[in-house]
Amino acid sequence: MKPGRVSHPMANRLRFECQSRCTECCRRQGFVYLTEGDLKRAAEFLGMTAAAFERKYVYRTRNRRRLKVPRDSHCHFLEDGGCSIHPAKPTQCRAFPFWPELLESRREWRKTARYCPGVGKGPPIGIQAARAVAREMREAHPAMYD
Ligand code: SF4
Ligand code: SF4
Repeated sequence: MKPGRVSHPMANRLRFECQSRCTECCRRQGFVYLTEGDLKRAAEFLGMTAAAFERKYVYRTRNRRRLKVPRDSHCHFLEDGGCSIHPAKPTQCRAFPFWPELLESRREWRKTARYCPGVGKGPPIGIQAARAVAREMREAHPAMYD
């Protein structure tokens, strides 16, 4: 490797293109954590106050806030064709699959490809661009990555 070149387990092989009408990642087990900015953006998108959005859709603990999970679905905003708040969806959803823990591990990236049909599709993604998204996720949720 030449000095200054970036080494990465998936360099040259990183391709991703989200597939129309797919909702696989929304149906996975786990929670969607929110930043305060995520909460305000989604509330505004729905024409609600942040307080009203929080009462209806958010479960808050001392250090974290996450979307409530409805009894009969994986997410209040999940519809057949996609996410009903797509333009204002939370950082965690928007950053997928470039989460730090998936991007930095060949094994995890392969596991992700088993359920995300967008992995391996589309034009190559520059590793720096992918890492910028991962950094955004890390900065949005520092407690997850301590
Ligand atoms: S699983 Fe992949 S292709 Fe499907 S909606 Fe999520 S990111 Fe897009
Ligand atoms: S907020 Fe939207 S993108 Fe995120 S899990 Fe719910 S339906 Fe999916």
